[in-house]
Amino acid sequence: MAESSKLYENVQKQFDRAADVMGLDEGIRTILSTPSNEIIVHFPVKMDNGKIELLKGYRVQHNNALGPYKGGLRFHPKLDINAARALATWMTWKSALAGLPYGGGKGGIKIDPKKYSMAELERITRRFTYALGDNIGPDLDIPAPDVNTNSQIMAWIADTYVQTKSPANRHNNLHVVTGKPVGSGGLEGRDRATGFGVVSTIKSWAELKGVDLKGKKYIVQGFGNVGYWASHFLALQGAVLVAVQDMSGTIYNENGIDPEALNDHSAGRKGQISGFDGAESIDSSTFFALDCDILIPAALGNQITVDNADSIKATLVAEAANGPTVVEAEAILLKKGINIIPDILCNAGGVTGSYYEWLQNKRSENWKIEDVLVLLEDKMNVAFDKTLKMAEKYDTDWRTASYIVALERLQTTYMERGLFP
Ligand code: NAD
Repeated sequence: MAESSKLYENVQKQFDRAADVMGLDEGIRTILSTPSNEIIVHFPVKMDNGKIELLKGYRVQHNNALGPYKGGLRFHPKLDINAARALATWMTWKSALAGLPYGGGKGGIKIDPKKYSMAELERITRRFTYALGDNIGPDLDIPAPDVNTNSQIMAWIADTYVQTKSPANRHNNLHVVTGKPVGSGGLEGRDRATGFGVVSTIKSWAELKGVDLKGKKYIVQGFGNVGYWASHFLALQGAVLVAVQDMSGTIYNENGIDPEALNDHSAGRKGQISGFDGAESIDSSTFFALDCDILIPAALGNQITVDNADSIKATLVAEAANGPTVVEAEAILLKKGINIIPDILCNAGGVTGSYYEWLQNKRSENWKIEDVLVLLEDKMNVAFDKTLKMAEKYDTDWRTASYIVALERLQTTYMERGLFP
């Protein structure tokens, strides 16, 4: 089965399980089982050598019962319609669980961004934004950064979108995307919001289980935005980063890897960790079986599978990535007594930070990072507590419980409003 089909199958199985456990209304189950809109665009871009390439972009809008569609854009060669569907669906559950006034969307462009110059990436991003046209908008669908996209890409999207509006309305449209640079309407702290939220949930777990994070060993897959910031904040708790894996390889140091030194190193190497002299390079296939207390997958989906789940030694898997654990592997982890902080809870700090940026733009304000992090931690704690309570109520695992929190909110909305016409 294609990786993206597996991803979509995964999210649907998780949804079905939660819907069964809570007894979700049949009609609402039908509505939520399929994305509302699926947009595919083909758009031409002139490359530096003068040749024209026709590129493919996606935006899947899963559900907007609670508010505008919200979710990231990724630039990745394996992005396709099923991956976009799966990721958009997860966004609906995540926004609902986090108590945000948003639905779920996701998309991006099927490219390997490493193959393009900065000037080409700018033209690709702008032309994609133009092709999406009014399918996105500050009160309709609000993209954000995801894999291989960053604040620069968001600034180009915002600029392109506002340039296509009347000058009178330009400044009311900046919040068409979040994750912008601070100088372009971005929120101080949005860069670290996802990693900060990941570590908030790990702190809540540690408190619940009576675990002292000081000296605990953790390993991280993916050292991009989320992997780095999660490593940074967990190190501040006194935990020790012992291994990191990314596209370029896997590194290990039982005495600890300094996340800041590794980040400085990778910044000069297009984000790649290989060649770091503060750790030894090891065989990538051994990563998941490494001795550690906490495993943080912060790269792509479908990483923890039936082939490696049994070898995992961590007592906690904190799912910073979207969809890192396939359903069959989750059963193995749970049987081994490993705790899992599910993705829709663990990485909800990203969309929550985006929400604050959106509010900041709507109100024409500039928020302070100290205030942002306090608000963020509070929202993460509320979502964590709701999940725990739901797990107790239904005597179920944390992922199913987090889904039920989200689905109850959506069910209430549909029940109260009824269905048009
Ligand atoms: P990023 O592009 O900044 O970093 C991705 C990292 O994953 C890189 O270090 C890359 O080398 C690594 N990677 C890619 N393929 C890999 C592979 N096959 N094996 C090992 N490593 C691999 O992306 P990001 O924004 O940090 O996103 C990481 C994950 O977090 C994604 O699943 C994303 O959907 C999720 N997420 C991101 C945000 C956000 O705010 N950026 C919010 C919520 C969830």
